[in-house]
Amino acid sequence: MTAAVKNNKSSDDNFHNFRKKILRWYDKHQRTLPWRATKEQKSNPYHVWLSEVMLQQTTVITVGPYFERFITKWPTIHDLAHAPQDDVMHEWAGLGYYARARNLHKCAQIVSNEYNGKFPDTQEELIKLPGIGDYSSNSIAAIAFNKPANVVDGNVERVMVRYYAVQGALPDNKKQLKELAGVIAWGEIKRSGDYAQALMDLGATICTPKNPKCSLCPLKSDCQAKEQGIAADLPKKKPKKAKPQKYGYVYWVSDAEDNILLERRGEKEMLGGMLGLPTSEWILGAKPEKHPNHVKHTKPLDLVIKHSFTHFDLHLNIITAQSRANIQGNKMVWLNRKKLSQAGLPTLFKKVVKLMK
Ligand code: SF4
Repeated sequence: MTAAVKNNKSSDDNFHNFRKKILRWYDKHQRTLPWRATKEQKSNPYHVWLSEVMLQQTTVITVGPYFERFITKWPTIHDLAHAPQDDVMHEWAGLGYYARARNLHKCAQIVSNEYNGKFPDTQEELIKLPGIGDYSSNSIAAIAFNKPANVVDGNVERVMVRYYAVQGALPDNKKQLKELAGVIAWGEIKRSGDYAQALMDLGATICTPKNPKCSLCPLKSDCQAKEQGIAADLPKKKPKKAKPQKYGYVYWVSDAEDNILLERRGEKEMLGGMLGLPTSEWILGAKPEKHPNHVKHTKPLDLVIKHSFTHFDLHLNIITAQSRANIQGNKMVWLNRKKLSQAGLPTLFKKVVKLMK
C-alpha cells in the first residue's frame, strides 16, 4: 500500500465511508445517459458494451447520437452481427478510431454466434473478446453484471490524484492511481456497477478538470487536495511533446458525369476499412515524391487540409486529377458529387468535400 493511502487514515472503515458517501451522492445526482439503466431497469449488456466501445477516446456528448442511431438500426446484438460491415463503418463515420468499429462488428458476431447473443459476465471472459481491453472489461463486468471491478478512466484518475494529493505527473503515475482506486473499489460487493458509475460521474460533474466544485463534493471532508488548497493545480501533467507532422496529397478525381472517385482504405492503414478520397502515402516531415499509379494529369490546387490524429498532424495538399482507367472494383467506387455527403466519409475527407464545394 502506498504512503498516500497510509497517510489518509487507511482503515477499512474509511474506505467503506468513501464508498457510502459516493453511492449516497450518486443516488441523488447521477447523470441520465442513453445507455444507462434507470433505478427500475436492469442494465442491458448490449447497450453497456456498445457505449463502452464508443466512449473509448470519445466524449459522452459526441457518442450520444451515434449510440441512439446504432440501437435504432440494430436493436439487438444479433441484428448488429448480421449487418454488412460496410453499413457498420458507414454509421461509425465521424467517430474516429475506426479499428474500434471493425472490432465491434467482430465482437458482435462472436457473441451472437458463439454465446447465443449473451455476453459473458466476467472480466476474465470479456477481455478475450475483440475490442475489449482491460478498462472496458472491468467496466462492462461492473455496469452490466454488477461484478466487483476496478474501473479507472480519466475521471476516476483525477478524483484519486486529488483525494490523495498525488504529486507525480500523469501519465507516469497511472499504475499508482489504479492501485489507489482498487484498494477502495474491490471492497464494494453489493453495488459495484453503481459505485463505478458514481465515481465517474463525480469526476465528470464535480471534480472537473478546471474549477472543481469542492463545496458540493461528498468527499470534501477527507480530500487532501482540498485541505491543502491545491485541487485546481492537480493532476500535474508532463509538458506535451510537439506532435509529428505528416504530409501527403489527396486526389479529387472526377469524370465527365461529375462522379468522384472514392477508395476503400486498407484495413491496416489509418482510417482502415473506411471509404475515402484517394490519397498518396503520408510521409513524416516531407511531401511524397510520387503520385499513385492510378491518377494522371494531376493539377495541384492552392488548398491544404490539416487534420489532427492522436499521434500526428496531417497536412494534405488537394490535387485535381483524372483516373488512368475507368476503375471500378472492390476498393474503388465512383459516386456522384451530390451524394458525397451521404457516403459516410471520415471527418478528414468531409473537410475536403466541403472545400471542393
Ligand atoms: Fe475533487 Fe474537490 Fe471533491 Fe477533492 S473535494 S475530490 S478536489 S471535487
